[in-house]
Amino acid sequence: MSKIEFGKGDLAKYPFLTEAGQYLKELDYSLAEFDEQSKMHVIERAYERIITALDGNIYRELDDLDTEVVSFLIALIMVRALGVRSVSRKYSLGEARRTEMFLEQELKHESEERMRAILTGIFNDLFSIDVIQENGKFKVKVADYLKRASYFHDNHWKLVNRTVNNGFVYLNSDETVRLIRDELTLYIYDKINKMELRQLPEAIKTKVNELRNRVVKDAEFKRYFTTTKYPPCVEHVLQVLSKGENPPHSARFLLATYMLSIGKTVDEVCNFFEAAPDYNERVTRYQVEHLTGMRGSGTKYTCPSCEKVASDNNCYRTEECDGIVNPVRFGRGRVGSGRAKPESG
Ligand code: SF4
Repeated sequence: MSKIEFGKGDLAKYPFLTEAGQYLKELDYSLAEFDEQSKMHVIERAYERIITALDGNIYRELDDLDTEVVSFLIALIMVRALGVRSVSRKYSLGEARRTEMFLEQELKHESEERMRAILTGIFNDLFSIDVIQENGKFKVKVADYLKRASYFHDNHWKLVNRTVNNGFVYLNSDETVRLIRDELTLYIYDKINKMELRQLPEAIKTKVNELRNRVVKDAEFKRYFTTTKYPPCVEHVLQVLSKGENPPHSARFLLATYMLSIGKTVDEVCNFFEAAPDYNERVTRYQVEHLTGMRGSGTKYTCPSCEKVASDNNCYRTEECDGIVNPVRFGRGRVGSGRAKPESG
């Protein structure tokens, strides 16, 4: 099928498309212009996009094309300048959910030709998934389905609960769109990370500082701005991650089981791995849930003993370790053993 051009009206809905980049070039804005009063509304709109996403809501505005396309770009710049990965990720998810909202509407109400444009231009071109329309339903190859849906929690997504025929899984429009949410989130997240920021206009810097102050007050993001006392071995894994390096498997296992043992949730543990260059949200979540016993054989894994951590070359003992035998005892005295049950608190 030949590539179908998206119209300008589509770019306000899907500003991550390549066509939106070309449109921005045509507008020929320079960043310096954003210090002018006439552009303040675009910066405010970008800020609103970010805050709406961080609050877990969907930004629904669709006023005028220029404002929507340019505010998306400015929002990416602001999130990049803030440099807090969890904010980048949450913002990316918010934009993905906005796209999802528009796609759901389009796949329900638009003409067949228009639907084909969407299925080709977004599903196929961006995410290499072939979606075929058939009698008001959509179908995808089983392999394409499993690659995405096997990470969803609800039983509803399990292959045994789906209609499968001739190697295809049948879906309604909302399910079809849900299938690409994670990839779309990653796609936008990548765009943020690949941005190279030069000198920013003062007006944008001021707004980034406002964003920083707001994020610092938010409990979910506080850990990025405060130091927490973890055992040296765990601190070391966090440092490796914060430098954007990949820790070895044994170090990841230590970090995850330690954090679960002290009462962190699966979500919180997954967030620690966001900085890893090879981070994949679905895979990380699956692995962390596996450690809690929610997946696989149901075995619940505990934090390895100091002896085991040392044998894996992950021990960075200091005086503060004070003869403990398991990292979960750090700061609590010598009682306990490597095979102790996970503790909370
Ligand atoms: S002694 Fe235990 S807690 Fe301390 S760094 Fe080594 S493994 Fe970690």
